[in-house]
Amino acid sequence: MNPARSAPERTCVGCRKVAAPGAMVRVCVEQGRAVVDEAPGGRKRHGRGAWVHPTAGCLHNAAKGGLSRSFRAPVDAGPLIAWGHERGIVRISSLVTGPQKS
Ligand SMILES: [Zn+2]
Repeated sequence: MNPARSAPERTCVGCRKVAAPGAMVRVCVEQGRAVVDEAPGGRKRHGRGAWVHPTAGCLHNAAKGGLSRSFRAPVDAGPLIAWGHERGIVRISSLVTGPQKS
C-alpha cells in the first residue's frame, strides 16, 4: 500500500487483496445504493468508486460491511447483490441464510 506507486492496482473491498482493475468490477454509490459500473476500466460513472472481485465471497463480504467501510457510510448493497445474482455469481438465499462470519 504505497500511495506514491502509480501501478494500476486496486484493493478489493471483499477480500482486501490488491489486484489489477481488470480483474475486478467497480462499484459506485448512488443515493446510498451500490451500483456496478459496467464500463471497461470503470470509467462510466463518476464519483468515488470501490473495487470488488466478481465472486460470491467477495460480493458477500462487500455487502456485509466492506462497502460501508470503504465509503464510510451505510451502503445498500442490494443492487450489487442483484447484479451478481443476474450473472449467476451470487445466490441470494445463501446471502440471507448463510452463516456469514466477518
Ligand atoms: Zn476480492
